[in-house]
Amino acid sequence: MQAQTRQADRTAAQAAGTMVTRCWSCRGPVAEGAPFCPTCAAVQPPGQADHFARLGLPRGFGVDAADLDRRYFALQRQLHPDRFATRSAHERALSQQQATALNDAYETLKDPLRRADCLLKLSGQDVVAEGCNLVNDPELLMEAMERREALAEAGSTVEVDAITRATRADVAACVGGLAAAFSAGDLAAAGRLTTRLKYLQKLVDETRVRKLQLRG
Ligand SMILES: [Zn+2]
Repeated sequence: MQAQTRQADRTAAQAAGTMVTRCWSCRGPVAEGAPFCPTCAAVQPPGQADHFARLGLPRGFGVDAADLDRRYFALQRQLHPDRFATRSAHERALSQQQATALNDAYETLKDPLRRADCLLKLSGQDVVAEGCNLVNDPELLMEAMERREALAEAGSTVEVDAITRATRADVAACVGGLAAAFSAGDLAAAGRLTTRLKYLQKLVDETRVRKLQLRG
C-alpha cells in the first residue's frame, strides 16, 4: 500500500516536472530541493534540484530581477543560522547546505551569462571552455581578435572609454539576443551568443586593466 502511495506521489510529481523525495524526519513527501518538509517543517537536504526549481522559478532566460531578489531573501531569512541555534547538529548542517545551494542558485540566475550557461547545460548542451568555442567559430574568433587588437592599440583613456561603451552596448544586445533565442528554443543560436557574451564580458574587464596601464 505504501509502495503504491509512493508511486502515485512520484507519478504526480513527475507530471508536474518535479521529483519527490521523503522527509528524513517524518517520511512525508517533499519536493526535491524544497528547504522544508510541508508536513513537519523539518529542514531538508538540498538534493538535486536545479537552480530554477530551488527559487521556485520556471526554467527560462527571462528572469525578473526584483522577483528573483524577493524569492532569494525570503528563503535566506528562513534559513538564517539564528533560526537553527537550538536545533540538532544534523538540522544545523542541513540548513547550512541549503543556504549554500540557495546562494549558488541566486548568483547563477542573477548573472545573464551564468544563467545562459546553466540553461544550456539543463538542455543537454555541454558548454565547452570559451577558447574552444571561439576556435570552432572563425567569425566570432576574428571579431574577438580584432577587438583585442583595437584595445591594445588604444593610446588614451578616452579611446579606451569609447571601446568600453561600445562593448557594453554589445553585451546588452547579446543579452537581448539570448532572450529571443531561448524563447524560440534555438539552442544553437543561444550557444553561440553565450560564447560571444563570455568574450565580450572579458573584454570589458580588459578595458579596465588597459585604462589603469595608460594612467600608470
Ligand atoms: Zn517531515
